[in-house]
Amino acid sequence: MKVIASHNGMKAVELAWDRLLAGADAVEACVSGVTLVEDDPDELTVGYGGLPNEDGVVELDAAVMNGRTRQGAGVAGLQRVRHPARVAQRLMEQTTRVLLVGEGALAFARANGFPEEELLTDRARRMWLYWKRTRSQHDDWLPPPRDEDLEVQTWFDRHFYRNPESTATGTVHCAARDRQDDFGCVTSTSGHAFKLPGRVGDSPILGAGLYADNEAGTCGSIGHGEANLQHLSSFAVVERLRCGDTLEQAAMTVLKRVVDHCPEHLRDARGRPKFNLQLFIMSASEEHLGAAIWPGKQIAVGDAGGHRLEPCISYFDAEGEQ
Ligand code: ASP
Repeated sequence: MKVIASHNGMKAVELAWDRLLAGADAVEACVSGVTLVEDDPDELTVGYGGLPNEDGVVELDAAVMNGRTRQGAGVAGLQRVRHPARVAQRLMEQTTRVLLVGEGALAFARANGFPEEELLTDRARRMWLYWKRTRSQHDDWLPPPRDEDLEVQTWFDRHFYRNPESTATGTVHCAARDRQDDFGCVTSTSGHAFKLPGRVGDSPILGAGLYADNEAGTCGSIGHGEANLQHLSSFAVVERLRCGDTLEQAAMTVLKRVVDHCPEHLRDARGRPKFNLQLFIMSASEEHLGAAIWPGKQIAVGDAGGHRLEPCISYFDAEGEQ
């Protein structure tokens, strides 16, 4: 048995591990774990408290996949329900459909008794307003005075305007192998901050945000959703494992392809992608690996040896060389 997750999924790993020990299947264990992250108002990229779209509305994407049945399902653009991963799990278990969006996803959640609520926290609302007031000098908004809402200003200085892409990103992914040696995984996100309303990223799409197949392994991905959608990285990694690649070979081959195919508007002055993409991989022999385009990232791991964060390998080194 083993659980892996993105760095922000440490508490998901702990709960998922306990659930595995208690006999839960891998999908159920991962969804239980990710629910904790979706509930956390301080996690600005997932569930309740996630940063909203351009119009100030929180729209959530999530998917689950079962490696034994190879069944999976996703919901996208889901508003007013804080647990999209649980909704996706219900969709997989109760219907023949694989993807629901917007109003249809909300209607399905309602039918299943999920409570509706405002997902925009006061903090996320202040951040959205700050973004509107600072993004352009050619609109109706005046920038806030320098000493107004320092917490929000500091966050934007550190994470948003210093990010060359100028999009705040983040997602939680969690994958597990249970007592029956079955894989299951889940990915949940509020998507890119201040995205176009209706924009759907990679997280709810099978093969992009996650993939699991008992024969080969599992992979989940966080980072620039469009780059991932164009390469179906999670599916590609699992396919390479199936064909005999090591975890590192599979990850580096797929990341190289994403780097090589990076569109012009997302390249820095040296031609490298201005975004990151991270892969979290577990093989059928239960080896695990975290890999990213850029260094400094971590993977959360839970197994009989305990819970811990381990470094990810990266395509570029700290000097930005391959
Ligand atoms: N992959 C997510 C998306 O594009 C965001 C992220 O993981 O940073 O919606």
